[in-house]
Amino acid sequence: MKVKRSLRTQLIFQYMVIVIVCMIVIPAAISKLLDMQFRRFASERLQENEIEIAEYFVRVYLEYGTWRESRLFPENNDFIRWPMFKVELFDNDGRSVRMYNRMESTSRRSSSLELSGRRPNTGSHSLHTHGDTVPARDIMIERRELYVEGIRIGEIHFSILPFSFSPEGRFLTKFNKIMYYAVAAMLAVAVLIAVFMAHRISRPVLNTANMARQISRGEYEKSEKTDTDITELAVLVDSVDRLGESLKEQENLRRRLLSDIAHELRNPVTIIKSHLEAIEDGVWQPTPERIRLTVGEIDRLSSLIREVEKLTSIESAAHCITFENIDISQTAERAAMAFDPMYAAKGVLLKRSIEDKIFAEVDGAKIRQVVENLLSNALRYTDEGGSVTFTAANTGNSFTIKVKDTGIGIAPKDLPYVFERFYRTDLSRTRTSGGIGIGLAIVKAIVEAHNGTIRAESELGKGSTFTVEIPLKIKEKGAYLS
Ligand code: ADP
Repeated sequence: MKVKRSLRTQLIFQYMVIVIVCMIVIPAAISKLLDMQFRRFASERLQENEIEIAEYFVRVYLEYGTWRESRLFPENNDFIRWPMFKVELFDNDGRSVRMYNRMESTSRRSSSLELSGRRPNTGSHSLHTHGDTVPARDIMIERRELYVEGIRIGEIHFSILPFSFSPEGRFLTKFNKIMYYAVAAMLAVAVLIAVFMAHRISRPVLNTANMARQISRGEYEKSEKTDTDITELAVLVDSVDRLGESLKEQENLRRRLLSDIAHELRNPVTIIKSHLEAIEDGVWQPTPERIRLTVGEIDRLSSLIREVEKLTSIESAAHCITFENIDISQTAERAAMAFDPMYAAKGVLLKRSIEDKIFAEVDGAKIRQVVENLLSNALRYTDEGGSVTFTAANTGNSFTIKVKDTGIGIAPKDLPYVFERFYRTDLSRTRTSGGIGIGLAIVKAIVEAHNGTIRAESELGKGSTFTVEIPLKIKEKGAYLS
């Protein structure tokens, strides 16, 4: 199993890796590269002087027949033009005859330079300055043997002095020291920034995770939204918050539905039971009228069960859609005709204005279900003497179906929720007629499966208008199926 570390720890760790790479590894790599470049440059420069120096030594040897120390490297000698070079002459026995470098000539005035006991290739000496001993290593880069008429007379070692020997080198050492302090200070600042940044990112994530946990436990009230100025996190916090809101809403609707169903079931069951008990006790005679009343209550129960069954239609509304080119005008007309008797029975006028030959690629049966649900609602929530206007029109790339009634209307506070499952306004809940609040949810699912839109406008006590707009052609088959 993967080891889990907190987001905060991981962020701090990652920031630190970046900081270490930037502040330590990169400068160290640059310094190493510079060092290599410097050595290459130095050895190239030395090559220019090397032969000149060798020839000078041979000339001196030829003149005196031996190594005359005093004649070698006169004070104003300009052999070595680079302050970091060191030239050392050894005789055939490997004894150091003379060593010279520009540093020596400058430090001689203020300090002493110990040269005795120097052996070739040991590559080390001590420099005494102001009582300090600075051990150092010089790097031999070239060794040249000297010959006079085929006889070896000695050899010269060319080396680069450690950089720290020169004033520039000392300055650089100091500069490096300051750099290290600066890097250490920057590291400390970077750690603080890393901790702060990690906290800034991890806090909203952690709080959102807590929020989601509370939502999953059904503790909607407790979850509190975290403020963040990071866009992606704000979107996440917002989404979880909205998820919580919608779950809370659904939970409330579910509770309301259960109490509604229980309430609606209780009434007919109580009536049926009391009627049957009265007949059993002989209080009432089972007259056709009393039996009809009992059957009427049973019908109410059946219609309630049918409504509950409709719940499954919401799922099938969005799936199982078969698109075919049909005449919407005919579908609308047939649906309206089917409602004529019911409207007439209730004394509500059904006016219609259906444009001819509106052809569209839709699922005919589902569109009919949309029209029926809207017409049935309009009738249900319009009292006797009212009227309903049903319109179907071609509106360019789409067709529009409008059902306008002069019924009880919907309060502004309820309007945004009428398309939610199980939502019923308080007004409709007090009415004996009515479903369980899923008719409009089904309508919306069908309309959206056709890539259409539905909207409701209403004024309490004056009436409502439901407008559906659906494209005439589907862009891609199955594109609207969720
Ligand atoms: P129901 O089966 O309860 O009618 P719907 O989903 O069809 O459920 O409607 C949801 C709620 O919207 C209804 O309970 C009612 O409160 C309100 N509503 C729907 N259509 C109308 C309308 N034409 N006039 C007034 N209220 C309406």
